[in-house]
Amino acid sequence: MSDNKPVVNLISKPENMLKTVYTACRTCYSADYPINIYNSTDDESKMLTLIERVISSGHFSTIEHIQVSFAISNVSRACTHQLVRHRHMSFSQKSQRYVKEKGQFDYIIPPTIEKNPELKDKFEKFMSEISSIYSEFTEAGIPAEDARFVLPNAAASSMVASLNLREMIHLANLRLCTRAQYEIRILVKKMCDELLKEEPWLKSYLVPKCERLGFCDEDKSCGRMPVRGNS
Ligand SMILES: Cc1cc2nc3c(=O)[nH]c(=O)nc-3n(C[C@H](O)[C@H](O)[C@H](O)COP(=O)(O)OP(=O)(O)OC[C@H]3O[C@@H](n4cnc5c(N)ncnc54)[C@H](O)[C@@H]3O)c2cc1C
Repeated sequence: MSDNKPVVNLISKPENMLKTVYTACRTCYSADYPINIYNSTDDESKMLTLIERVISSGHFSTIEHIQVSFAISNVSRACTHQLVRHRHMSFSQKSQRYVKEKGQFDYIIPPTIEKNPELKDKFEKFMSEISSIYSEFTEAGIPAEDARFVLPNAAASSMVASLNLREMIHLANLRLCTRAQYEIRILVKKMCDELLKEEPWLKSYLVPKCERLGFCDEDKSCGRMPVRGNS
């Protein structure tokens, strides 16, 4: 097993992302052809100013033209189950029907258990026990799609996940929030960091929602921003 943390790589994104978003924004307010706008623009600060104005006013279709894809591995099924709740994302996930586990399956140990040697030991023994039962079932001819019923939320998974920029910002706003579960928070942070390496202009968008809102709208606030309605 690797280091118990999500492994994330950006595997696909369009070239000229900023220019494409700018062209989409500018086209709405210009008599000029979109191709002329695209070919005549290189002023980054002008593009960023318009994009911020358009996004802040909720004109989100302009950022739906950009699609990005990530290769994700070493995440628990507990984590992927949360990720697949995002309905504007596309997924291709390692199948527990078609991929039979051989020997001990990979699993993720939450840090709260990892740091407690006694509980970690129990956890690992239990994973090993599950693995034995799984193998016993598959060796007895039970198909993987049925044997997998004994596999835990901790079982590691892999997927390719794709989404447009609107959904990427939404995902970041929700899942970078400290109220989100630790593993999906780490996963989404890595997705954001991967994209930011290539597209640093997105820094102010790929943030927890409180940073965009200027306040916290959660019932239980972590305290880093004023709570909605409190003066
Ligand atoms: C901290 C946290 C705790 C959570 N706890 C729970 C929990 O206890 N139980 C649980 O079941 N889930 C829970 N969730 C999942 C949550 O309810 C959402 O299912 C998930 O975050 C996907 O978000 P979304 O629906 O905003 O976004 P997406 O599915 O990514 O959609 C993006 C946006 O598109 C629009 N949209 C998408 N589909 C529709 C539609 N059918 N109709 C209208 N508008 C649509 C909405 O504006 C939506 O915000 C939790 C999420 C978080 C972040």
